[in-house]
Amino acid sequence: ERDLCLTIVVAGASGDLASKKTYPALQFLHHNGFLPRKVAIIGYARTQMSDEQLRTKLRPRLKGSEKEVDKFLEGCTYVSGSYDGSEGWQKLAAVLEAREAKHRGCPCGRLYYLALPPSVYPQVCTGLKTYCDGLPSVEGSWIRVVVEKPFGLDLQSSEELAEELGKLYPESQLYRIDHYLGKEMVQNLFVIRFANMFTAPLWNRNCISNVQITFKEDFGTQGRGGYFDSFGIVRDVIQNHLIQLLAMLAMEKPLSIHPDDLRDEKVKVLRCIKPVQPHNVVLGQYTAADAQPGYTDDPTVPAGSKTPTFASVTVFIDNDRWAGVPFVLKAGKALNERKAEIRVQLRSTPHFVFNGEPEAMRNELVVRLQPDEAIYLKLIVKKPGLEIDTAISELDLDYRQRYPGVVIPDAYPRLILDSIRGDQQHFVRRDELRAAWAICTPILHLIDAGALPVHPYPYGSRGPPEADELLARAGFVKNSRYDWHEAGAA
Ligand code: NAP
Ligand code: NAP
Repeated sequence: ERDLCLTIVVAGASGDLASKKTYPALQFLHHNGFLPRKVAIIGYARTQMSDEQLRTKLRPRLKGSEKEVDKFLEGCTYVSGSYDGSEGWQKLAAVLEAREAKHRGCPCGRLYYLALPPSVYPQVCTGLKTYCDGLPSVEGSWIRVVVEKPFGLDLQSSEELAEELGKLYPESQLYRIDHYLGKEMVQNLFVIRFANMFTAPLWNRNCISNVQITFKEDFGTQGRGGYFDSFGIVRDVIQNHLIQLLAMLAMEKPLSIHPDDLRDEKVKVLRCIKPVQPHNVVLGQYTAADAQPGYTDDPTVPAGSKTPTFASVTVFIDNDRWAGVPFVLKAGKALNERKAEIRVQLRSTPHFVFNGEPEAMRNELVVRLQPDEAIYLKLIVKKPGLEIDTAISELDLDYRQRYPGVVIPDAYPRLILDSIRGDQQHFVRRDELRAAWAICTPILHLIDAGALPVHPYPYGSRGPPEADELLARAGFVKNSRYDWHEAGAA
């Protein structure tokens, strides 16, 4: 691996994603010694810029000492060219070939990272394929293409895009990023589920009453509503990120940790889910409250927009393990807190010999992805003291306390490293994408047609009250007696 001559082409290097995520992730890998010694990063976009101008643009985004940052930036150059036509691509091909000629005999890896709107993916892939596909014939050489969401607007447009890209690059060369798959706790789900004995007998309809997969943001669109408005929260968060979490949570144990064994199981479980039914959906849009603007007050949002900024969706998995268990996928902006978590609520004990109501005391396993990684299991214990009384407490694994000083890397460095190593485990395969769109497409068409009510909710609230009704129908019971104290707190 250290001998590889690696060239990373960041197409769309002038844009937001490139400077916010791609380059900082590459610098993280560089700084921590995960990139080969022979590495170069070439930015490509239409904007006219010199190498120095690109470096000046990137510098404020990069972390570390000036010396380290300069060392990384030395390897970053820029080529300007258009996405159609041939001229720009030929220029890029010449740079690639000259570089690889200098390392004659070494295996060469090329990572084409598309930090661009998907509307230009077909053009860009055509340009790359036609003009920049000439790799040296050294064993171990490869070309891989990394693409970012949104992959279409619905099942049909996603399939069209996949078809176009598929004609140019086979699935084995395509790396579709869903950055949730790069998160520590999402990768951890796989281990927690399949390396432990205690989870195995619990993980089914006999023990589990309902599951919530929740994404909450405590801010609104903040002047960036133009992009969001054409997608809405279901496309932006639920169809991709939350459905991926659902698949990881509900799939059967794969044959092995080989990427395709894992992805086979994800596809299988997704295909057991029928399209979302309208009566299992609650939509919302935030309104102004406490001096915070409402969604339609954002000047970049079209007046009178009905785009949902909140959605709660219940789905069912029709297989032996899960039949009848509601999975509630909930996502929203401008809510009371910022978090992403999975909450698996178990059934209550069938025969409760203690005092009190067993219904309001349930075991819950919570996996918190963000902000601070944690796993906790709520369990019922004897209330400390002379009486035999019950209380809800927790077995608590807080990552900051348990692993002090350990840096949990961001999703992007992990995913870029995986793509350099050729590991597709945490990338979305085409059939997975198709299955995920099939679940959400009918409801998206109804939302787009304005056929479903969009309930207002005040900025900073928990979302529309109708969502709690949906949750109650799913059998969720809030543990009203749960009283959590942070360690060390009075
Ligand atoms: P962006 O800044 O709007 O676009 C990146 C670059 O693409 C621009 O600098 C521009 O470069 C070129 N470009 C923009 N619009 C174009 C058009 N209509 N036709 C041709 N070229 C165009 O986008 P981004 O925020 O970096 O996002 C890139 C991709 O990542 C998108 O698919 C986005 O949905 C996805 N994504 C972004 C984020 C994020 O945090 N920004 C997060 C997740 C996913 P030139 O004009 O110099 O050619
Ligand atoms: P909780 O507050 O008993 O339950 C939260 C759940 O109830 C969420 O699903 C929430 O939905 C829902 N909910 C809240 N208000 C509701 C209402 N009025 N009607 C219906 N449903 C409602 O328990 P928890 O969140 O697991 O824990 C409480 C606090 O302790 C949290 O701040 C948690 O972070 C903290 N804690 C931290 C750790 C740790 O850091 N290691 C360990 C244990 C507990 P929404 O998500 O939609 O609001």
